[in-house]
Amino acid sequence: MEKNNFIVSCKEQVKTKDKLENIIYLAKDNFWTEALPTTASSNFLADFVPGENATVIKLLTKSGAILKGKTAMDEFACGGTGLLANTGIITNPHNFQHIVGGSSSGSATAVAKGLVSFALGSDTGGSVRQPAAYCGIVGFKPSSGLVSRYGLIPMASSLDTVGILANSVATTEKVFLVIAQPDPSDLLTIDAEQTTTKPVSFFVAKKITILKGIEKFLSPQFAESYQKTINILKKKNYQIKAIEIPPEIRENLQLCYLIICSSELVSHLNSCQGITYGQKVNNAENVGAKVCQIRTEYLGKSVRQRLLLGSYFLQNKKDCEKAYLFRQKVKNWTEKIFRKYDFLLFPSPNSEAPKVEHSSFFFTGSETHWSDNLLLLASLGGFPSLSLPIGFVNGLPISVNINASYKQDKLLFQLAKSIEKEIKAFS
Ligand code: GLN
Repeated sequence: MEKNNFIVSCKEQVKTKDKLENIIYLAKDNFWTEALPTTASSNFLADFVPGENATVIKLLTKSGAILKGKTAMDEFACGGTGLLANTGIITNPHNFQHIVGGSSSGSATAVAKGLVSFALGSDTGGSVRQPAAYCGIVGFKPSSGLVSRYGLIPMASSLDTVGILANSVATTEKVFLVIAQPDPSDLLTIDAEQTTTKPVSFFVAKKITILKGIEKFLSPQFAESYQKTINILKKKNYQIKAIEIPPEIRENLQLCYLIICSSELVSHLNSCQGITYGQKVNNAENVGAKVCQIRTEYLGKSVRQRLLLGSYFLQNKKDCEKAYLFRQKVKNWTEKIFRKYDFLLFPSPNSEAPKVEHSSFFFTGSETHWSDNLLLLASLGGFPSLSLPIGFVNGLPISVNINASYKQDKLLFQLAKSIEKEIKAFS
C-alpha cells in the first residue's frame, strides 16, 4: 500500500550568495516555474510550462535558495487529504495507513521526511496548516497581502495565501522575511512594515485566549498534550482566558467557506476550457460540448464536484451574498478578540491524521465538526496563523494552531518560538 508520490519533477539551479544561501527547497506544483512543468497535479495541465517563475520563487532564488523540485498536491488545491493528485495518493510519513492531509501534501511529506528544511505551499482553507499538523512540522499562513501571489494558480483568490511548511519556527520566519515583499505584479500586496497600529512588543504581549469546551472534542491523550501546552504558557506568565465561540460562527464556518471557495474557483477555472491553454479536444460539436468533454476527461472528480457546487451558488446569488456577509461577521468577531487579546490558540485539527479509508475524497460539509474547522477562521479573517507540533497520539503528530492580529506575523513567530523551545525541552 505504501505509495508516496510526493515529488513530481526535479532540477538544479544556479547558486548565489545571500540570506538563504544554498538552502534547497521544494515548491507545491501550483507555483509557476519557468523551466519545470506546473501541473497543479491535474491531467488538465499535464504539459503546462509557464515560462516564468512565480514572484516568491524569484525572491527565494535571489536570496540564494535552490529550488530542487515541485511537490504533488490535491488537484488544483481542492482537497485536504493527499489522495487527489493525478500522480497517485500520498500517505502520512509517520504511518502510511493514515492520510497526510492536504492540499500541500507533497510539501508536508518532504519536510517531515527531512528531505528539505522548508517547502512552499498554498493555504486557502487550511491547506498548509492542516498537512503540517498531521506531519508534525510547522505550517504557516501569513497575513493576507504580505506575500505576492503572482504566479500561484488561484483556487479562491479572496482566500488564497502563499504558505510555508518548515522544520522549525526559525526557518519559517527566515523564509517569510524573504518572501514578504510588496510586488507590482500583485497589486493586492502591501508592505509588512507599514501599519497604522503600533507593532506590539513581545514582552508586553501576554494575553492569550482559548476556546471554551474544546477539550471535550479531543482524545484523552490529545487533551493532555494540549493542557501541557497551556501549562507551559501559564508558567511563562501568560494570562489565559477561555471564551465562547458564538454558535452562529461555529455552525456556519464551513458552509460559508464552501460557498466562497467553490464560487471563486468557478471563476478562476473559467479558463480551463481547452480553448486557450491546457488539454484540447478536436471532435466536439460546439464550444459547450468541448468544455464539457475536456473537463470530464481531464479534471478529477473532486474539482468537478466543486465546479458544480460553485456554479450552483453563483446562480443562486443569495447564498453568495449571505456567505460574504457572514464572512464579515467572522472578521468582526476575530477583530474584537484581537483588540483584547494578543493571541488566539486552539488545538487544530482536533485529532491525529485519520486513516485513509476513513477520509472522504469530497468536501461533504457534514462529516466534520466545528472544532475541526477552526483553521478557517484565519482564512476568512485574513490574519496570520501557524500550526505548531505539540506531541504524538498513537504514533501520529498533533498540533496547536496559534493566531495573531492582522500583520502581527512577527509577534506570532515569537510566541511560537518560545512554545517550541519549551516543548522540545521536555519531549
Ligand atoms: N481542505 C480545504 C478544502 O478542501 C482546504 C483547501 C486549501 O486550503 N487549498 O477546501
